Amino acid sequence: MMIAGSRQLGNNIDVYLVILIEDPKILWVEGVDVYDGNLQQSFRLRAMIFCTINDFPAYENLSGYRVKGHHACPICEKDTSYIQLKHEKKTVYTRHRRFLKPYHLYRRMKKAFNGTLEIDSAPKPLSGHKVFDRVKDIISMFGKTQKKDGSDKNI
Ligand SMILES: [Zn+2]
Repeated sequence: MMIAGSRQLGNNIDVYLVILIEDPKILWVEGVDVYDGNLQQSFRLRAMIFCTINDFPAYENLSGYRVKGHHACPICEKDTSYIQLKHEKKTVYTRHRRFLKPYHLYRRMKKAFNGTLEIDSAPKPLSGHKVFDRVKDIISMFGKTQKKDGSDKNI
């Protein structure tokens, strides 16, 4: 789905996503009866959205995870390595060659990257329990809210 427009939708994107939520809820909770032509029998199909593929701005929008600033990498988080460019005032994220295999060619290509070897290993992924601990108390508020002056505000 592509939503064109001059402004980011922010949390208003939930209006567009509602149709993508209701059907998967049914598929997960109740399932649907489908026919397997190969086995020539019906069965209850249950399904879930396992992952999505999107660009970083969409990732921020959908997940609520902040993908700007010095800790923008959702994997490295507080250990995100970056360089702040002096003249462009842009943030460049570095040291992601550490996600490559230990003897990957790119780890030794100093000149092609930032003049350094990459010898560190990637951070360990969070366990499911740690992820749950982080998100269990999040309160999501979707849609538009009203500013005190009556104008719409994305939250
Ligand atoms: Zn990272």
